Amino acid sequence: KLSARLATVAKYVPNGAKVADIGSDHAYLPCYLAKNNGIAYAVAGEVAVGPFQSAERNVKAEGLSGVISVRLGDGLDVIQPGEVDTITIAGMGGALITSILDRGKKKLTSVKRLILQPNIGAISIRKWCLDNSWVLCAEEILEEDGKIYEVLVAEQGGEPLAPYDKNLDAGLLFGPHLAKEKNSVFRKKWLAEKQNWERIYHQLEKAAETPETMKKKQELIHNIKLAEEVLQDEN
Ligand code: SAM
Repeated sequence: KLSARLATVAKYVPNGAKVADIGSDHAYLPCYLAKNNGIAYAVAGEVAVGPFQSAERNVKAEGLSGVISVRLGDGLDVIQPGEVDTITIAGMGGALITSILDRGKKKLTSVKRLILQPNIGAISIRKWCLDNSWVLCAEEILEEDGKIYEVLVAEQGGEPLAPYDKNLDAGLLFGPHLAKEKNSVFRKKWLAEKQNWERIYHQLEKAAETPETMKKKQELIHNIKLAEEVLQDEN
């Protein structure tokens, strides 16, 4: 059975999609998509040999070699121009996901939808989308096995600023769609982050003041204020 995390990614893969799953590891996601989402085909990309071999083994064992092509390579290097219209990248940090997209920009012209699941640093993906004219069209936040995950869905074309109808800084940090919905997982995550920032702030207050600690404290105060605002019931 697929994890709730990957099932949430799968939810956004359209019927008939030509998919690349980058950093596929065991290839659980493309195998699930081939069996449940009626995709045209998938490329499972992996940069590391061990996970690549595990993907190959699983795809073969599931009898899906005709639908899923397992390839060894870095980021979007594994796909040909025009080959896919949907890209999934899950289970990595937001900064790594953005660097993969950025280095593979040329391959993105044929891509309609990105479904990204950063373990941390979703903010860098939102910034990248804004800077590269991808519109954040949906977001999800979920908790599984005591960990909180975000899933970001972006499409090319349209007005990238459109989802950010309130404060841009807050939207980039919390996610414009998630901040509108404010479900219980969202509240839990940002309450914990706020408490963590407060703890760091109090530690810095005890340390000797340098230009770096002053800058860090200002950043923390800014973020704590944003979190307080977003956690208010009505705004
Ligand atoms: N996507 C799967 C998931 O969400 O369950 C696997 C996540 S696993 C933690 C991250 C995988 O990404 C690892 O197997 C790693 O080798 C791979 N990876 C890291 N950087 C990569 C890159 N630049 N190109 C392709 N794969 C990469």
